[in-house]
Amino acid sequence: MSDLSLPSTFTPENAQASAVMNTYARMEVTFSHGKGLEMWDLEGRRYLDALAGIAVNTVGHGHPRLVAALQEQVAQMIHCCNYYHVQTQEQLAAKLVELSGMSNVFFCSTGLEANEAAIKLARKFGSKKGIERPEIVVYEKSFHGRSIATLSATGNTKIQAGFGPLVEGFIRVPINSLQALEQATHNNPNVVAVFLEAIQGEGGINVMDLEYLRQVRALCDERDWLFMIDEVQCGMGRTGKWFAHQWAGIQPDVMPLAKGLGSGVPVGAVVAGPKAAHIFEPGNHGSTFGGNPLAMRAGIETIAIMEADHLVENAAKMGAYLQTRLEQELQGVAGFVQCKGKGLMIGIELDRPCSALMGQALAAGLLLSVTADCIIRLVPALIIEASHCDEIVSILVPLIKKFLKST
Ligand SMILES: *Cc1c(COP(=O)(O)O)cnc(C)c1O
Repeated sequence: MSDLSLPSTFTPENAQASAVMNTYARMEVTFSHGKGLEMWDLEGRRYLDALAGIAVNTVGHGHPRLVAALQEQVAQMIHCCNYYHVQTQEQLAAKLVELSGMSNVFFCSTGLEANEAAIKLARKFGSKKGIERPEIVVYEKSFHGRSIATLSATGNTKIQAGFGPLVEGFIRVPINSLQALEQATHNNPNVVAVFLEAIQGEGGINVMDLEYLRQVRALCDERDWLFMIDEVQCGMGRTGKWFAHQWAGIQPDVMPLAKGLGSGVPVGAVVAGPKAAHIFEPGNHGSTFGGNPLAMRAGIETIAIMEADHLVENAAKMGAYLQTRLEQELQGVAGFVQCKGKGLMIGIELDRPCSALMGQALAAGLLLSVTADCIIRLVPALIIEASHCDEIVSILVPLIKKFLKST
């Protein structure tokens, strides 16, 4: 596949020797390629991929239609800067507008960049109303990225530690409590926006109540705040709707997207409704790579494949099947708390920290992650079939049972 002579296994010694900066506690495996929901390591060992590169590989690995489109695009034009019109930007923006019912899109390359743009939108929205010190409501256990502003918005002190001073202008509240939101913002004229994940991903697959989302929408309308929903992880069909907030029948004013949007090619977007679509003017914001033709083609083709193969419906159906099977098998097992999430964004909550399960699953040929210490996270590609779900259950359930017995 590749001519790079990498060691197939990184031991602690050669990890020390690695020229890559040590920002991830990596597992001892190196992959060479993938196909659909399967991946192979450098020794030719097969794995079932229930992680999809953290909710990124929407159409799985090596999808023939995506590969062909990207190969064609690479030959035609990879990059063209935003001094000029980019036709594929117009196409992807129109598609996102159609799917969301919102009105305009800004393109960037990552989730944090999309959230950074959302925070700037909220601040300028306030500035235009004469608010000099705008404040944005954010949530406990939220994750919005690792830039200075987005880690300040994030509700996790571990992610913030060592990077102070944090950006000011955030008010933090617990999820799913209208009363807490009303109290925290009471008589505060500086509030400009409420910013939340419809389903918290890194925070442990915590689902916002649909009624709560409707109440926040109503409150934002009443107080003239922007309602900004971070759909970087829960968006792009994963929950069985194009966007997770659509389950509540509402529409946000600002919606950052990334992860699954380009099936692995870095693409971020901020979709804005009428209240936020015309806040930025030329010179206010930008991104060199944002909206480049390769990224746009990946987004366009991802959505086209999702439509042609009914992958949003598949996410709803297979997600429900997988979650039901897991619940059936784990019901009554001491130490199992609950399954949570929606569609193909599934958390299996245990009553104790279980990050060791990540390595145990890897050794058993299954890729998954553990987040918020006690939550096993499954976010597989949307092309998943029932046989894959059965294989996940048959590998994972015995591992969980064994883990709970031995700890
Ligand atoms: C992953 C994630 C981000 C950050 O995305 P990056 O592309 O890593 O910057 C932001 N918000 C949510 C909800 C995420 O899951």
